[in-house]
Amino acid sequence: METKKCKKCGKTFDCLHSADCWCADLKISKKLSEYLSNTYKDCLCNECLKAYIEKEKNILS
Ligand SMILES: [Zn+2]
Repeated sequence: METKKCKKCGKTFDCLHSADCWCADLKISKKLSEYLSNTYKDCLCNECLKAYIEKEKNILS
């Protein structure tokens, strides 16, 4: 497990680097995950990822 710092809000969070990671439970579309990796180069915290999932249609349309 690795402690990462969210690139968006600066909050620290734990990354499990596997399918057991909390982020695997979030439904992140391929398009959104490509957008996030291009924008932030790393994972974001739970809250920011959830906010992006909710806003996805506005961002990617
Ligand atoms: Zn965050």
